[in-house]
Amino acid sequence: MYEVYALKYAERDTTACQFFYREASHAPITLHYYVWLIKGGPHPILVDTGFLDDDARERGMRNYVSPAAMVERAGVKPGDVPLALITHLHYDHWAGHSLFPNAEYWIQRDEVAFWTGPFGRYQAFRQSANPGALARLVTLNYANRVRIVEGDRQVFPGVSVHRVGGHTAGLQIVTVQTERGTVVLTSDASHFYRNVETRQPVQIVTSLPEMLAAFETIQALAGAQRLIVAGHDPEVADRFKPVEPGIIRIA
Ligand SMILES: [Zn+2]
Repeated sequence: MYEVYALKYAERDTTACQFFYREASHAPITLHYYVWLIKGGPHPILVDTGFLDDDARERGMRNYVSPAAMVERAGVKPGDVPLALITHLHYDHWAGHSLFPNAEYWIQRDEVAFWTGPFGRYQAFRQSANPGALARLVTLNYANRVRIVEGDRQVFPGVSVHRVGGHTAGLQIVTVQTERGTVVLTSDASHFYRNVETRQPVQIVTSLPEMLAAFETIQALAGAQRLIVAGHDPEVADRFKPVEPGIIRIA
């Protein structure tokens, strides 16, 4: 059976009005930054790659540690990760890809098209991008390291990706069948539990209807066990089981 871990590698403070859609409150909020690790299959699977220390410095992160170090602490050498599912191409999910030099990256076609297309030039989207990391999509693709997928795909029996869009053009979420039930790794389809549980969008969006539909998809996929892992919520450590600082066992 599969085991799923959330690995926290950074933190950042902001305010609710900077983050939630049409939110007036200036209340402070803290985002936690994670990659997720799936063990117990034919080989380990990483979900997202985090970022490097350049983004950590430039974007005012606290308590940054390399995502590769966290993966190693969870028992997997970064060079032994043959597959990384990339939920979307924002800097905090893609800019750390070089830390995993033997991985093939699975990315939705709509996501690749968006970040190499006509809207990258606008500040509204560029602020979420690491252009150098996005440029390497091309060389990695020609090196046979990128698999462009469309829609819902099974990775192994019991592990699947599901395209939901909304927050980004080709955002995909991940489901894993475990002993406890279906784990749903929402990534940024629900940054906080508040998003999916109150149907409150975030400000960074390519399609508001798709974002709202994604909340329904998350809850339908999770079923009665509700093993939902929000993408940036410190509360993940309260709802699941921290096994050591920064390492949370989901199932
Ligand atoms: Zn994110």
